Amino acid sequence: MNTLMNTQEIISLTEQNVLHTYNRFPVVFEKGDGVTLTDTDGKEYLDFGAGIAVFALGYGNQYVKDAIKEQTDKLIHTSNLFYHRPLAEAAAKVIAASGMDKVFFTNSGTEAIEGAIKTARKYAWLKDGGADHEIIAMNQSFHGRSVGALSVTGNSHYQDPFRPLMGGVRFADFNDLESVKAQVNEKTCAIILETVQGEGGIYPADPEFLKGVKAICEEKDILLILDEIQCGMGRCGSMYAWQQYGTMPDIMTTAKALGCGIPVGAFVLNKKVAEASLVPGDHGTTYGGNPLACAAVSAVFDQFEELKIVEHVQKITPYLEKTLDRLVSSLDCLTARRGMGLMQGLVVTGRPVGGVVSACLKEGLVVLSAGSDVIRLVPPLVITEQDIDRMADILERVLSAE
Ligand SMILES: *Cc1c(COP(=O)(O)O)cnc(C)c1O
Repeated sequence: MNTLMNTQEIISLTEQNVLHTYNRFPVVFEKGDGVTLTDTDGKEYLDFGAGIAVFALGYGNQYVKDAIKEQTDKLIHTSNLFYHRPLAEAAAKVIAASGMDKVFFTNSGTEAIEGAIKTARKYAWLKDGGADHEIIAMNQSFHGRSVGALSVTGNSHYQDPFRPLMGGVRFADFNDLESVKAQVNEKTCAIILETVQGEGGIYPADPEFLKGVKAICEEKDILLILDEIQCGMGRCGSMYAWQQYGTMPDIMTTAKALGCGIPVGAFVLNKKVAEASLVPGDHGTTYGGNPLACAAVSAVFDQFEELKIVEHVQKITPYLEKTLDRLVSSLDCLTARRGMGLMQGLVVTGRPVGGVVSACLKEGLVVLSAGSDVIRLVPPLVITEQDIDRMADILERVLSAE
């Protein structure tokens, strides 16, 4: 195939052959370095999207690249019928970072959610043999696009064309403990929520809410599933956002930054659940946790430690918050800031957020949207104060223009 295709040819060839499920921006990225992306025309972009909260370490981290290259030369795949060194190492690092008990690696966040749902159902089934267990999920949540994950995603726009979905799901309002209590009954086997809602518009859980949900779960032996796919891996100022709340889940899902670009996710169980849920034959995956993916996970954890990523997020967050708060107070079209650590949202009024994202791109800044009216900032976790200043300059320019 012609490798000298120009930008427009790449776009046309893609649209000709790839199923149109995304309205892509007319930009073709070719390489990344640190917090900078470069497109096929040589234009540079400051990246505050990180491939949707994936590139925690920025682009081109040498240590991670070397680990992936080395593993590629050694052994990319074995299947889960055999042991391998990268799995042993990566699993130990996830367990050490979370303080939980057992991990199962998947290929995506969605599959981690599927595993969490199956685990919760198996746990409940072992207790009472029932086949009618229910899960409580949150309105405005996002957990993925497979039928199981979609069934616990509280967004009718995503759900409606695909009904009937998985049964036994009830929805409650995020940060409204009474609405959760109203959905609990003898059949409830799990409550699933994002510690910080991402796609829904960047809503951190209120500490009192999460504590209340945890108390309900403990009282009734209902499993708490915390989806840390977007908010985890250091993004909110701790390795996992729940660690700041002091609320360990029974099941955690993680993905996105876990492999910093290599497709990998995981669900992680506490001891109680690990000892009474999935056994051989219950769950499996051909690729999940293969040597290449696990080598990436392992290297990512090494770099988090080496570069003191979590400490850096804690140190730089006040500067980002202060900068964004200044924009909110000086620009009429911004009404609020919400978020935790380097997962921040700005609420836009009076103009469509999609237009703001497009205008930022033209000015060389990648930002994302969330919900219907939120500018979502999820930069690489290695950003500096200068990067934040540059982001704010561009955003201010874009939002000041009519
Ligand atoms: C992205 C995301 C998912 C889905 O992960 P995929 O890797 O896209 O399958 C699930 N939950 C949350 C909170 C997410 O942000």
